[in-house]
Amino acid sequence: MALTEYQAKRNFRITPEPKGSGKKQRAPELSFVVQKHQASHLHYDFRLEWKGVLLSWAIPKGPSLDPSVKRLAMAVEDHPLEYGGFEGVIPEGQYGGGTVMVWDRGTWQSEDPDVDTALKNGELKFVLHGSKLKGSWVLVRTKGFGTSKRSAWLLIKHKDKYASPQDITVKSRSAVSKRSMAGIATAFGGDVAKAAESDPK
Ligand code: MN
Repeated sequence: MALTEYQAKRNFRITPEPKGSGKKQRAPELSFVVQKHQASHLHYDFRLEWKGVLLSWAIPKGPSLDPSVKRLAMAVEDHPLEYGGFEGVIPEGQYGGGTVMVWDRGTWQSEDPDVDTALKNGELKFVLHGSKLKGSWVLVRTKGFGTSKRSAWLLIKHKDKYASPQDITVKSRSAVSKRSMAGIATAFGGDVAKAAESDPK
C-alpha cells in the first residue's frame, strides 16, 4: 500500500486534492468516507482507513441498504488519509475532474480478526458508524482474483436493524457542509449545471 499511483495520476500544482504525506496518522479509531463524485460518470468513492491510507473502491450506483441488492465496487488506487476531508472541485482535464462531496463519513470496525487476510481472501466483513451508513456490511471480491490489478467487488448490506428497502442515495446533502452537488460546484468554481445533474430534481 503506497501512494505512488495516486500521486502519479495527479498534478498537484493544478488540482486542490491533497498530495498526501504518506505519514501514518493513526487515530484510535479507523475512519471511513464515502465521496459522491460527479466525474465523467457519477459514482460514489467508498474508502476505508487501513494502515495509513484509504483503501478505495468506486461504486457506480452507490451503496444500498437493501441486503438483497449487491452493488458493484471497483477497486481503485489507495488514497491518502487527508483525502477523507476533501470536498470541492477537481479541475476539468485533471484526473477525475468534477465535483466531489463528502457524502458520508465516520468510523469503521472490522468483523474479521485479520483484515489483511480477509482482503487477500476477497471477503471483508465490517461495521460502519456513519451518519447515513450504519451497521454490518460485506465487501466480496467477484473476479480478477490474482490476475488483473483492479478487481471487482460487491458491497452488500447485512441483515440488521439498519437494513432497509429505502434508497439511501436520495439523502443527497454533504455530511460536512450540508451542500448539494450544485452548491459545492458553485462554492469552488466548478461546472454547476453538470454537478446539478446528480442532485435530486
Ligand atoms: Mn472518484
